[in-house]
Amino acid sequence: MTNPSAIRADKKRVVVIGAGLGGMTAAIQLARAGYAVDILEKNPNVGGKLNIHREAGFSFDLGPSIFTLPNVFRPIFEQNGKTLDDYIHLERVDPQWRNFFEDGTVVDLWENPAAMRHELERLSPGAVEDYQKFLEYSKLQYDIVERGYFKHGLDTFWDFVKFYGVRGARGLDYMRTMATGIETVVHDPYLRDILEYFIKYVGSSAYDAPGFMNLMPNIQLEFGLWYVRGGLYELARAFEQRLQETGVRVFLNHRVTEILKDGANVRGVLARSADGSTLSLDADFVVSNMEVIPANQQLLHSSRKVMKKLERFEPACSGIVVHLGLNRIYPQLAHHNFFYSSDQKRHFHRVFKEKQLPDDPTIYLVAPTRTDPSQAPPGCDNIKILPHIPYRNDQHPYTREDCVDLKERCLDKLERMGLTDLRKHIVVEDFWTPFDIEEKYLSNRGSIYGVVSDMRKNFAFKGPKKSPDFKNLFYVGGSVNPGGGMPMVTLSGLHVARLIMESDGRP
Ligand SMILES: Cc1cc2nc3c(=O)[nH]c(=O)nc-3n(C[C@H](O)[C@H](O)[C@H](O)COP(=O)(O)OP(=O)(O)OC[C@H]3O[C@@H](n4cnc5c(N)ncnc54)[C@H](O)[C@@H]3O)c2cc1C
Repeated sequence: MTNPSAIRADKKRVVVIGAGLGGMTAAIQLARAGYAVDILEKNPNVGGKLNIHREAGFSFDLGPSIFTLPNVFRPIFEQNGKTLDDYIHLERVDPQWRNFFEDGTVVDLWENPAAMRHELERLSPGAVEDYQKFLEYSKLQYDIVERGYFKHGLDTFWDFVKFYGVRGARGLDYMRTMATGIETVVHDPYLRDILEYFIKYVGSSAYDAPGFMNLMPNIQLEFGLWYVRGGLYELARAFEQRLQETGVRVFLNHRVTEILKDGANVRGVLARSADGSTLSLDADFVVSNMEVIPANQQLLHSSRKVMKKLERFEPACSGIVVHLGLNRIYPQLAHHNFFYSSDQKRHFHRVFKEKQLPDDPTIYLVAPTRTDPSQAPPGCDNIKILPHIPYRNDQHPYTREDCVDLKERCLDKLERMGLTDLRKHIVVEDFWTPFDIEEKYLSNRGSIYGVVSDMRKNFAFKGPKKSPDFKNLFYVGGSVNPGGGMPMVTLSGLHVARLIMESDGRP
C-alpha cells in the first residue's frame, strides 16, 4: 500500500499564501508538476475577491462580474481529457455594456459588428469610421503587448527592451496617455467617454495610463465578454475542485503572520488559525498572493530602503460596492450598465490626482438576472453598484460615513437617470467600503485591482513576480505583472509556476 505522506516527503514543498485566483493557479500548476503544495487562506472560503453573498433568495457576486479571455484559464483545467467547459458553463453577453448619459442618451456597446454599426450610425456622423479606426489601433496595441508582456511574463522595462528589441514594439503607443490615444481617433464625446472607461478593468485613470492600455477594448470585442452560469463564484468553485484533484492541501481560516527568512532565502511560514492555534510550515518555495507592499510590511518586516523602492507600485483605486435586492425589475437595464459622470475627465482627476471622493462619479451597475434569472427571486432584481473611489490615502483621508454619503449621491444619480424610486424598492442591502475590502482581503489600502497603471509612476509595470530580495520567494496577483483583473492575475500564477520550475531545473 502507498503512503501519501511518504510521497509528499519525497517532493519539494511549496507554500502559497492566499487562495485568490493567482495563488490557486500557481498552486494547481505546481502540484501537477509534482510539488507538495500547501495553500493557506485567512478567509473561510477560497476565491479571494471572487466572492459571494447570499441573502433572502438573492445571490450577489461580491467581486468580479465580467469574465474575459477565457483561453487564459483553459490550461489549468486541461487534464485527463477534461477541459474548462467540464467545470463551468460560459455564456456570451451581448450587448456587452449599456451606457447611460445625463442628457438621456443611451448607447449600447455590441460585440456583434452589425448591431454596433447600427448603434453608431444612430449616434453621430463619422462615428462608424472613427470606431473602426480605433478598433484597428486597439488590436495593434493588444497584439504587441500580448506576444511579449503577457505571453512571456516580462517583468521590467529591461525585459521589455530585451524581448522586443529596437523594432519589435513598433506601433506601441507609449508616449501619449490612453485618453489622448482615444481623442486622436474618436470625435464623438459619448464614444470617447465609453472607451475611456475601459480603464475601469485596472482601476486607473485614462488620463494617466499609457496609450497602449487602449488594448482593453480589443480584449472584450475580439474575445467576448462572458458570464459564468450560476454566478461568477462558480469559477472559484471550479478552482477549488482543481485544488482537490491535484492534491493541494488547503488550510482555510489560516492567516500567515510571518515569512521565515534564512539569509538570501526564505524557509517557510508561520500562520495563525481562526481558533488561535499556530502552524509552522517549511518550504522550498514560497508564493505570496498577499500583495507585494503588505507582504513586505507585515510578513517580511522589510527595511525602509526596500519599502521606499516599492512606493512606485501605488495602489489602484478602490470602490464602494452596494449590492441591492429589489422587489421590482427595471427593464431598461442590460446585464452590464454604466451611468456616466457629466464630466468624466474631472471625475478621473478628483479620484486619481486629488484623491478625494467623487461628487459625480461614473457608476458601474450590473444586473445579472438579465442573463441568469436564478440570481434573484421571481419578479425581483439583483443589482450591484460600483463607483471607483481613491484607495485609503493620507492626502485626503475619508471615513465610513463619507462613503455612506457617497452611496446616497449614487442612488440620487441613478434615480435621476431613470431608476425611478430606486430606494423605495430595496428589500436587501449589503454595503462594502474600502475599509471592509482591506480587512477582508488584506489588500493594500483597500485597492480593488492591485497596482495602478500610470505613465509617470511605473509606466504600467507592476511589481516583479520574483522577489529581488529572496531567491525562492515569488508573488502572484494584482500587485505584480501583468496586474489586476481575473485573467491577468491568473496569468501571473501560470508564469510563477513556470518560473519556479525553471529555477528548479525543470523547464
Ligand atoms: C468589487 C470588485 C469588482 C471587480 N470586478 C472585476 C471584473 O468585473 N472583472 C475582473 O476580471 N476583475 C474584477 N475585479 C478584480 C479581481 O477580482 C481581482 O483582480 C482578482 O480577483 C484578484 O486576484 P488575486 O490573485 O490578486 O487575489 P485576491 O483576490 O486579492 O486574493 C488574495 C487572497 O489572499 C488572502 N490573503 C492575503 N494575505 C494573506 C495572509 N497573510 N494569510 C492568508 N491569506 C492571505 C486574502 O484573504 C485573499 O483571499 C473586481 C474586484 C472587486 C473587489
